[in-house]
Amino acid sequence: MASERERGGRWPEPAAAPAAADLARCVHCGLCLTACPTYLVTGLETESPRGRIQMARLIEEGRSQLTPAIQEHWSRCLQCRACEAVCPSGVPYGRIQERARAQVQAQPASGRAALRLRRLVLRQVVARPRVLGAVLAPVGRFGGWRLRGLAERLLPGRLRTMSRQLPSNQGRPFRLEEAAAGNPDGEPVQLFGGCVMRELFGETHRATVRVLARAGARVGAPAGQRCCGALHAHEGDLAFARQLAKANIAAFEGSAGAIVVNSAGCGAAMKEYPELLAGEPGWEERAAAFAARVRDLAEWLAARPRLPRGALGVRTVYQDACHLAHVQGIRREPRALLAAAGCELVETEGADVCCGAAGLYGLVQPGMSAELRRRKAGSFAAARPEVIVTGNPGCHLQYLAAVQEAGVGAEVLHLAEVLDRAWRADGGASG
Ligand code: SF4
Ligand code: SF4
Repeated sequence: MASERERGGRWPEPAAAPAAADLARCVHCGLCLTACPTYLVTGLETESPRGRIQMARLIEEGRSQLTPAIQEHWSRCLQCRACEAVCPSGVPYGRIQERARAQVQAQPASGRAALRLRRLVLRQVVARPRVLGAVLAPVGRFGGWRLRGLAERLLPGRLRTMSRQLPSNQGRPFRLEEAAAGNPDGEPVQLFGGCVMRELFGETHRATVRVLARAGARVGAPAGQRCCGALHAHEGDLAFARQLAKANIAAFEGSAGAIVVNSAGCGAAMKEYPELLAGEPGWEERAAAFAARVRDLAEWLAARPRLPRGALGVRTVYQDACHLAHVQGIRREPRALLAAAGCELVETEGADVCCGAAGLYGLVQPGMSAELRRRKAGSFAAARPEVIVTGNPGCHLQYLAAVQEAGVGAEVLHLAEVLDRAWRADGGASG
């Protein structure tokens, strides 16, 4: 009789399970533990990367079922990939966790109402620009509403926190046609619009276009582009993430130049399209060609001779977005750009520790999300910055609440907004 191992362990969908070879790379050294935010908060092995990998191994080896307790330990993982960045064995933790969550999704439907609802929202709202726009329009208006202070006082706890997370300086949503700008003879670049970024961070996109144009680019944004699929992949909905990846690859194929992304999570996902589409006939080469063009905004700007220069002189704290620092390895470039803009950079403890935003994490794990936000608020209170800079929309929203919790009057800005201000103040000069 075949053993559990020979039958593919106890995974609900063995063909899409975490690869045994990936799991076997973990040598249990524990070097990842102190990089893991949930381990730092709890001190529990079960809330560590090593513990979560071991649970997957037990299932793989047929020594455990995919129990509700294991699902909860995985659900508490932020998918920040700080563990992956420090692992000496090269354990592909992000891939393991996405596949583990796909197994949770593949279980029989009973008792998974919340999972099914999240999947429905991600597919039918987040991935559909018109629907997302209709849903977020009143949310965006609330952000700029003069009476929001009164509304906040009337709202109960969780809703009050969410209302604090709404940006108030982002204006109307961004439309892709607004990207057409810059020098007609300049280097072509294509802006990736994203989903939430387009609807809630219109001004960040407009600042990005202005900065790219001033850096000498001819900016465009191909029609037909869609949500990057990162949230869907993190949720374990890999089939839908692949659909979105294919749509984006097709949308950008007729254009020239770098694909510039100003959202760390989107950029990381797009650089990993080759892995997402591995084994898909006809798509592997197209995904590789697409990924080779993807650049984070900071990465693209820092490699250009015309840098934004300025003398802003504001006390600035930069916070690394996990998917920029840990996945894309981009830490130095945003700091160099801020220094060139004349910001007075102050480093804070835990600048590259996850803030607890992590896509839908604040809704799924509100307690851990609030604790990580509280820690950020503490570091802001100690540093007393005038400006807090990030390069990811989820972190941006989390910091808006954190500055209020810290009682600091700091502005939260995207890197593009700071560079745009510096360049405007300098009359458009370049370095
Ligand atoms: S650092 Fe890597 S090999 Fe070591 S315990 Fe963590 S995941 Fe395993
Ligand atoms: S992805 Fe982040 S939260 Fe999850 S195990 Fe790794 S370090 Fe911990």
